[in-house]
Amino acid sequence: MSFAATILTLYPEMFPGPLGASLAGRALREEAWSLETVQIRDFATDKHRSVDDTPAGGGAGMVLRADVLAAAIDSVADGRPLLAMSPRGRQLTQERVRRLAEGPGAIIVCGRFEGFDERLFEAREVEPVSIGDYVLSGGEIGAFVLLDACIRLLPGVMGAASSGDEESFENGLLEYPHYTRPVEWEGRTIPEVLRSGDHAKIAAWRKSMAESDTRLRRPDLWERHEGARVQSPSGARQKKKDR
Ligand code: SAH
Repeated sequence: MSFAATILTLYPEMFPGPLGASLAGRALREEAWSLETVQIRDFATDKHRSVDDTPAGGGAGMVLRADVLAAAIDSVADGRPLLAMSPRGRQLTQERVRRLAEGPGAIIVCGRFEGFDERLFEAREVEPVSIGDYVLSGGEIGAFVLLDACIRLLPGVMGAASSGDEESFENGLLEYPHYTRPVEWEGRTIPEVLRSGDHAKIAAWRKSMAESDTRLRRPDLWERHEGARVQSPSGARQKKKDR
């Protein structure tokens, strides 16, 4: 069964957008995944077809109505994970992406304006998902990000490349740096070890680069990685020895 994506949005014309090109586009044409959009406005009930209203308690902007969104959700809900893009959600991780990619697909609600009436989340068991600590103008680009990350993991879409556990985040670290020809470029050469043909030495160099780059660039990831090591008995011993 292929991965079925349903997007609830006020801008269905944005899709498939970037997901119609390159690997994701080919996979879409080959039916490795499917895409359906639902116009939220089609579920408005008043004569102005309004989907939003002013925030309770006052303040700037407009809030998407729970009743309209729930009607849109109910028209497509079928047991697939139900997600809403929101900066107030838990931040998307490669682990969450992998679990989604192994499942039947996802129903993704895209917010606009100030976001959603909070009652929606409990009433329909919607999982809020953030793509990072910054604010977008709408959930559609977040949905592209989430879907792109899932689609590249689907069987046959990228082949062996995406299943490698050396990729960034797969083992809690950033990936090691890459180089390709020419060997010398603007006076800079490819690290000697990568040209040595000594596979054990190359693997050791890559591991140490992945570790040092993670430690320097992403102390948050590094701390979690070290924490995970301490939890396993062998890791604990190793950690003591390191000190
Ligand atoms: N007032 C809200 C931001 C609303 S932005 C707040 O401060 O929390 C409008 C919509 O863009 C949101 O409903 C959401 O669907 C989307 N969006 C904005 N930033 C996002 C992020 N970091 N991750 C996922 N979706 C985001």
